[in-house]
Order: sequence, then C-alpha cells, then structure tokens
Amino acid sequence: MLVNLKEILDDARARKYGVGMFNTFNIELALGVLEAAEETKSPVIFGTAEALLDCCDIDTAASFLIPMARNASVPVVLHLDHGYTEETLKHAIGAGFTSVMYDCSTRPFGENIALCAEMASYAHERGVSVEGELGHVSFDEGGAGDGKGYAYTEPTDVKEFVERTGIDALAIAIGTEHGVYKTKPVLDIGRLKEIRGATDTNLVLHGGSGLSVGDLQACIRYGIQKINIFTDISIAASEAAYEYVKQYGPTINEISPRMREAVKKVAIQKMTDFGSVGKAL
Ligand SMILES: [Zn+2]
Repeated sequence: MLVNLKEILDDARARKYGVGMFNTFNIELALGVLEAAEETKSPVIFGTAEALLDCCDIDTAASFLIPMARNASVPVVLHLDHGYTEETLKHAIGAGFTSVMYDCSTRPFGENIALCAEMASYAHERGVSVEGELGHVSFDEGGAGDGKGYAYTEPTDVKEFVERTGIDALAIAIGTEHGVYKTKPVLDIGRLKEIRGATDTNLVLHGGSGLSVGDLQACIRYGIQKINIFTDISIAASEAAYEYVKQYGPTINEISPRMREAVKKVAIQKMTDFGSVGKAL
C-alpha cells in the first residue's frame, strides 16, 4: 500500500527500528527493493532525487512506482530526495509522491526555516510528508562535489527548526557522507543523542551506504528512523551486470534479472540490519 513518510516513521520511532530509503529510478532497482520488502515484511521507501532525474523523470518514475507501491503487500512511501526548488517539489507532489525532501541545507538558517515551513504547509494540505535538513551532509564523491563544506547539525538549533517548520522528518549531519567513503567514517553519536533529546520528530541519516552494522544499529538505537541507501545497491547492480558481460557478453535480458537479484540481496541485508523485518503493519 502507498503511504506517506510520517506514517511509517512514526511507527519506526515508537518501535525503535529503522526504515531504508532506496533510490529506485529503474525497474531493476524497484523490483529488487520491493521483493526484498515483501519477502521480509518490511515497510520501505522508494526514492529518487532531483540529481537523478536524468535517469528517469518525475512523471515516468511515478507512472510505475505508484502502482507498484499501491499493489504491494507492505507499506511503501514514494519519496523525492534532495529536491532543491519549489517547482520540482510541487511537480513531485502533483505526480503522486507521498514524501518530499526540501534540501535548503546550504542556505542561511532563517531562510531554510521559511522555505521548509511554506513547503510543509503546502504538502500537508495534500497528505504529503516533508523532510528538511539542518547542517549539511556534503556531496564530495567522484570529484562532483557541491562545493559546500560539511556542516555538523547543531543540536541547539534543532528544536526551533522543527517547531517553526512543522516538518515530519529531519536529516542530520553527524559524520556520514554521500557516496563511497574514502576513509572510515567516525560518527558523532553524542551529537545524535543531543539532537534526539531536543526533538520528537523523525530523524534521517543520509550516506548510510558503507557504514558498519554496528554504526547503523547505534544510530537506530539512539534515535534515527530513516536511513538512505543508494551507493550499496548501485554498486551491487552495476557489478552484477559487469560480471555477466565480462564472462558471457552483453545480453540485456540476462543482465536485468541479475541486477534485480543483486539489489534484492543487499536490500534484505539492510532491512535485517535495520530491524524492519516483520514490522510491516
Ligand atoms: Zn542525501
């Protein structure tokens, strides 16, 4: 069934587990993730991001992801990650997405609040959830960084931000990064505890790929509800295709199910690590 983000994250917060958000802009990714969720009876979040719209535009993504979510035996959210403009977010909401992230994390505090508050009001009237970001989890992978430095979330800013915006989930920066980690990440769990102590809202960890199970479970234990995973399934799908092509040659109908299986395997592992197995309502 298709649900919004708040519905599944509120349950995750009450029962202390994490829900994975996986980017699913093509059918191999979407089928792999959905099969993993249905087999393990996990709630799950389908996603795409403004930076991934070259892979599949919003309307096309909605055209296959919404029916898949509606027909699923588990709760599924359709989330737009890292939306940067009001126009893109409203487009996604109009197309049927049930959750949007308004990433104004590189803007001044007051501007971030004003933009997220306005979007939360618009989205809530339509039954859609909103995620904001405070601090900044940077994009430095592959030399294609956003040029903005990492900024840890200040726990003292959190209460005001959540109350004035009315958002449903807050992405925080506690040491994770997007993409492949070049050095072992060191997470600031003390900061997470302070943030959790400052707000009851749902908390989101970006850059979940590549983290150890111990780190992931510590984050869930101390207050994270949503964990974004893309790099791990991207590598799994790409390597499955590469290995087949290298050995047998380029055959799309052989590559496609192997990509899907590789994604499913990683997704099942994450759902197990996050404790979402059997939590589908
Ligand atoms: Zn992110």
